[in-house]
Amino acid sequence: MAGRNFLFVPGPTNIPDRVMRAMMVSMEDHRSPVFPALTREVMAGLKKVFRTETGTPFVFPSSGTGCWEAALTNTLSPGDRVLAARFGQFSHLWIDMCTRLGLDVQIVDCEWGTGVPLQQYTDILKADTGHHIKAVLACHNETATGVTSDIAGVREALDEARHPALLCVDCVSSLGSIDVCFDDWRIDMAVSGSQKGLMLPAGLGILCASPKALEMRHSAQLKRCYFDLNDMITANANGYFPYTPALSLMYGLAESLRMIEEEGLDNIIARHHYLAEGVRAAVTRGWGLKLCAKEAKWYSDTVSAVMVPDGVNGAEIIAHAFHRYNVSLGAGLAKVAGKLFRIGHLGDMNEVHLMAAIAGAEMAMLDCGMDIQPGSGVAAAGDYWRQHPAPSGLLSRGAGNLSKDTHGTDRLSRSAVVKG
Ligand code: PLP
Repeated sequence: MAGRNFLFVPGPTNIPDRVMRAMMVSMEDHRSPVFPALTREVMAGLKKVFRTETGTPFVFPSSGTGCWEAALTNTLSPGDRVLAARFGQFSHLWIDMCTRLGLDVQIVDCEWGTGVPLQQYTDILKADTGHHIKAVLACHNETATGVTSDIAGVREALDEARHPALLCVDCVSSLGSIDVCFDDWRIDMAVSGSQKGLMLPAGLGILCASPKALEMRHSAQLKRCYFDLNDMITANANGYFPYTPALSLMYGLAESLRMIEEEGLDNIIARHHYLAEGVRAAVTRGWGLKLCAKEAKWYSDTVSAVMVPDGVNGAEIIAHAFHRYNVSLGAGLAKVAGKLFRIGHLGDMNEVHLMAAIAGAEMAMLDCGMDIQPGSGVAAAGDYWRQHPAPSGLLSRGAGNLSKDTHGTDRLSRSAVVKG
């Protein structure tokens, strides 16, 4: 098929050329005297992305799921109670892992399209005067439904109840795109992966642990071996790993962290919000469709889950977009299979790039017989982006001021010089 594939699943995300090139390295001795410099650079960069000075980052050759397991097994013992809300496939899978590890999960089932129910969390924590709940789990960004939860609010629920449980947060599809404030929110375990906001292939599990969480590894009785933080802490102290690190990915991570530093985390977060608003304009104002997220407070800036009307199969739209237009949209998972398609708008992305998702989805919906106005999504997104100031990460040098060229020269006066 001529032309490129346009990738809009909410992870893996598009890899910047810079990061791709940084991963093209010859293998080297990971026990050499120069290797620790790479480890130290990566760990320092990750601390900034987590906005932490007190937390300790860990990088596992795994995916995010491995770090879910690391977070649980290094802090808890069989039969320990954990509180968790289920409102999508990923919050469900973390609960499933807890159950399979032998934890006693107090599940709060919520409507899919909503997020962590703060009042219920507060009530449950207040009622738990014996402090049987050892950890509170929260999925920051439920990728299956495009819902972002209020993690500062979960911290407040714990504080209001004066409850000592650990706060464990899944930020797999938020880190590096939606703000994650590890220190301010006093998160104890934050779990992420390489293939979303960090703009890398899958293959690295990223974890950040608070001093309180690390202390709990001394009493935690859940079985662990590969994911034992003790081994990591010992080896990382000197810049090494307890086993062969995923070298190419580590070089890629160092480069993506440099890119994040250059654009600025605040700018990146603003860019994700601005791009997401354009997609939401296309979905609701342009196409007249609904998002799976039930209220604006749940809207995710990294993924939009677009509900299709009854009688339309979302999977068909996804398949058609792929086969006919080479556009990859995200599938509806589990309970919402067939009921929606997802547009991932995270990582290395700008307006015109994202237009491919909107145009591709729009053409696929029309081809599949949906009653939408041709061009309506593209027009609504375009209107939004044209009418709002672009975050600085989207502006090339001199852009945003039509009278200047990229060297800051006044265009009118330059053309006058050329004409003259
Ligand atoms: N949590 C969330 C919110 C996710 O979106 C995903 C994957 O998409 C995971 C956990 C699992 O991560 P991984 O596929 O890297 O194991």
